Amino acid sequence: MLISAPVLIKPKENMQMLELDLAEPRFGEVRVKMVASGVCHSCLHAYDGSHTGIPMPIVLGDEGSGVVDVVGAGVSHLQKGDHVVISWAPSCNNCKYCNLGFPALCLNTPAIGKTTGDVTMFQHNGKDVHHYGPSTYGSYIVLPESAAVKIRKDFPLESAALIGCSVATGFGAVVNTASLRAGQSVAVFGCGGVGLNAIQGAVTTGAYPIIGVDVLDSKLEMARHFGATHTINLSKQDLDAEIKKLTGNGVDASIIAVGNSKAMEQGLAILAKQGIEVVLGLPGTGDKFPVDPWLLMGGERKIVGSRYGSSNPLVEFPKLVELAVSGRIKIEELVTKRYDLDEADEAFRSLAAGEQARGLIVF
Ligand SMILES: [Zn+2]
Ligand SMILES: [Zn+2]
Repeated sequence: MLISAPVLIKPKENMQMLELDLAEPRFGEVRVKMVASGVCHSCLHAYDGSHTGIPMPIVLGDEGSGVVDVVGAGVSHLQKGDHVVISWAPSCNNCKYCNLGFPALCLNTPAIGKTTGDVTMFQHNGKDVHHYGPSTYGSYIVLPESAAVKIRKDFPLESAALIGCSVATGFGAVVNTASLRAGQSVAVFGCGGVGLNAIQGAVTTGAYPIIGVDVLDSKLEMARHFGATHTINLSKQDLDAEIKKLTGNGVDASIIAVGNSKAMEQGLAILAKQGIEVVLGLPGTGDKFPVDPWLLMGGERKIVGSRYGSSNPLVEFPKLVELAVSGRIKIEELVTKRYDLDEADEAFRSLAAGEQARGLIVF
């Protein structure tokens, strides 16, 4: 079928709205009519060229929601009409990590720019157009059943798109990866889409204090709205002095929800003994940060990465929906701006300028 999508031909250039051929679902795959797509910082890295090695032309988009439109042969858990949140971690259900319940670490993921079987489902004038994960900016997409997670139909499907990346990643980094406990202190660096959800995760654990760290007052205001008990503006305040004032000996956890290696260095330096630093922001290709081994060994501090919030989307997404329905986390309020599909360039500009909690493309 013919679909429409903004296509990135070259980094640092505006995308082109094109009509693309979309292949029919194969065995175990479904086609989803997209309803909404979040505008995520990982896609911005492809858009602005700060991540290299991404094949072009490409359809971006790694968090979205929609309605199952066609069900391929061999699909067992989904039916036409189901409401689904898109996961960017399709899983083989067969490797060590899939069997351990960590499909985001699956050993059999497709090559960058491709889908299952290392092919592309999009074509333009007979030439391949690549996939950025699930490519949620396509008006329709085809994906394996494991990457379309069914949610209840009475939940607002547009804002549910955000569960597919920013909510699951931020919330899970605190709840699953850091396993924060009531009364422990946490600093969240970067109060954008992912960071705000890390703050929401911290609230559900009973952590205190919950310290939002950013360079923009507008983001720190949002951090407080989503549950931060204190905030630090790095462009005006001294991080070490403020952390000392709030915690005495440092934080039990620092969550780095920004792709900035300086923040990763700072997040380690402010850890209390036995503290854990969770790295989830994506730095630019090749970026590094220095680690003083004395901090690790001398105080049993840990640095860990978190991919998809160490979560299993099939289990986690419906759980996050229930938390939102019961009022324990906010999802709709994360959406600060809605865009049409042909406004994706403006959505990236606004994201890069730090103007939004989360922009949402609505189809
Ligand atoms: Zn993302
Ligand atoms: Zn696997």
